[in-house]
Amino acid sequence: MKCPICASTKLLPFVQQDEWCFSQCVDCQFAFLNPMPTQAQLNGLYEDDRGITATHYPKAASRRLRSLMRALRLLPWCWRKSAFDLGCGGGFMVNALQRLGAAASGLDVNAQAIAYARTQFPACRFYSESFNAFEATQTFDFVYCSELIEHVSELSEFMQMLRRLTHLKSRVYITTPDLGSQQVPQPITEWDVFVPPHHVQFFKETNLAQLFRQYGFEQEKRFPDRKAGLKVLFRRVA
Ligand SMILES: [Zn+2]
Repeated sequence: MKCPICASTKLLPFVQQDEWCFSQCVDCQFAFLNPMPTQAQLNGLYEDDRGITATHYPKAASRRLRSLMRALRLLPWCWRKSAFDLGCGGGFMVNALQRLGAAASGLDVNAQAIAYARTQFPACRFYSESFNAFEATQTFDFVYCSELIEHVSELSEFMQMLRRLTHLKSRVYITTPDLGSQQVPQPITEWDVFVPPHHVQFFKETNLAQLFRQYGFEQEKRFPDRKAGLKVLFRRVA
């Protein structure tokens, strides 16, 4: 077994919860489930819909507002651009991006969430598939991908998907928990995002940058976060 980020074979046991064992790379500190479940096994977890129906989404009003605030911060990169939300849930961010002048669409594996998005936001386009089954028919200027990468067991497939969705100078905005933050509780099992097997890995800022560099993206900007979160904008340069 090699580190999925830096290919080092120097791995140490990191933490265990129930039957889930995480390893950590000695060289780059990336932490990941070892053994790693397959994407098909993980996708099976998302059929639990938690009260989502075609007409109801929990806390919809505050989701709409928060998405608009978030989209406003991203305005320089999405205004009058084509935009895609990878892992869009009920489509709140797709709607926000569209309202702020982007031509926006989104993809999610959760069919109920997509049914809701199609009902509520008919001006936007939605796809209900897993990211590794999705065949992009166009590329986008801006790809938004929030709190998804920590769920992805096949990082190389995910990154190749990001390449299929983008072109030179496209921006990719990624958010994920920040393993390097001073705010990560000790022991890490107390962290609210430590929920194996939903979250299969944890990145530091340097891990994310190294992964993206391997696929032709360079880090353009890191956004501040009040909690232990990474919010990073990448630009495709190759
Ligand atoms: Zn490593």
